[in-house]
Amino acid sequence: MMSEEIEQLNQDLADKRPKDIIRHALEQHGAIAVSFSGAEDVVLIDMAVKIKPDVDIFTLDTGRLHPETYEFIEQVRKHYGIRIDIRTPEQQALQQLVREKGLFSFFEDGHQECCGIRKIEPLRQKLLTLDAWITGQRRDQSPGTRSDVQLVEADSAFQGRNGELTKYNPLALWSSAQVWEYIRLFDVPYNRLHEQGYISIGCQPCTRPTLPNQHEREGRWWWENAGHKECGLHAGNIIEKG
Ligand code: SF4
Repeated sequence: MMSEEIEQLNQDLADKRPKDIIRHALEQHGAIAVSFSGAEDVVLIDMAVKIKPDVDIFTLDTGRLHPETYEFIEQVRKHYGIRIDIRTPEQQALQQLVREKGLFSFFEDGHQECCGIRKIEPLRQKLLTLDAWITGQRRDQSPGTRSDVQLVEADSAFQGRNGELTKYNPLALWSSAQVWEYIRLFDVPYNRLHEQGYISIGCQPCTRPTLPNQHEREGRWWWENAGHKECGLHAGNIIEKG
């Protein structure tokens, strides 16, 4: 889509509910999938399967998730009776990294290389089969990188099967409180780590609970620069900000 079309679409969808945005996205694109991170973005699945029961849903199994997250992914699969396309890292690249740098290289030279192999490359491969994807990004998740997230964006970081890739963020304007209101109202399953003080959930070694008044992304890669808490899945958030 041209940037003018994206701009117009954002205006048209501005007062629509997330489920209406998901319906619009599913109607517009033949090859479209919902990205599930194993956290509170499960609400996207709840909305999407009610519209299209066989909607394409994928998640990235980095091999380093919490046991609770694996259990949660399985719980979601059974609860909705859905297939989840679980994407895993390419073995050769992963073995080379671990052989050369061990299992915790990210604490020494940053998370980019490990995230690149365990998340970004499997995501890139999945997106190459699509025209559009739906994510759970919200503006209130990070004042540093997500405050400008739009309902619809031309994905500048990845390519789709025909080059262009559209990214829908139906929850962009929702607050964390709205997400949790929905989870309670519709009895949506949730990751038990949320009961232990975790808000933003990623890989086990790189995620920790947040304290009162800490922002949720402060629980991710806490040993690194506070303003760049993205693993690359949404790299455009950083690139576009320069
Ligand atoms: S979040 Fe941590 S363990 Fe997970 S892929 Fe990134 S650096 Fe590796």
